Amino acid sequence: MSTDPNCIFCKIVAGQIPAQKVHEDDALVVFHDINPWAPVHVLIVPKVHVASLAVAGPGHEPLLGRMLALAPRLMQQLGVTQGFRVVVNTGRDGGQEVDHLHMHVMGGPRPWARG
Ligand code: 5GP
Ligand code: ZN
Repeated sequence: MSTDPNCIFCKIVAGQIPAQKVHEDDALVVFHDINPWAPVHVLIVPKVHVASLAVAGPGHEPLLGRMLALAPRLMQQLGVTQGFRVVVNTGRDGGQEVDHLHMHVMGGPRPWARG
């Protein structure tokens, strides 16, 4: 599996940096964002290093499907019942800060800190 030794999310996947994990399976890790915008704010992160959605191709369709399909199950598990937001910041103008594909999933009662 492709990893980048300098990537912070690869380090979280490898357990080299701690994170508040809420889910892990063969392909994905999910943990709470360190700087949450909403009462519930998690990041769905593939274990494989993919730099961004911009470089995803047809070969990534199963992975992307799994990321998206996991979101409602996670929100249910985390007690979010009134809806949630899914965001994939992509590239510089897309506001992407960590160059490892990830999906923000945010929910919980408003007002939110951001978003
Ligand atoms: P981006 O702007 O790339 O979509 O968002 C990256 C997100 O990762 C930010 O919301 C930021 O708070 C979160 N983040 C960055 N470093 C860490 C970390 O070491 N641990 C956790 N849990 N979240 C992080
Ligand atoms: Zn990575």
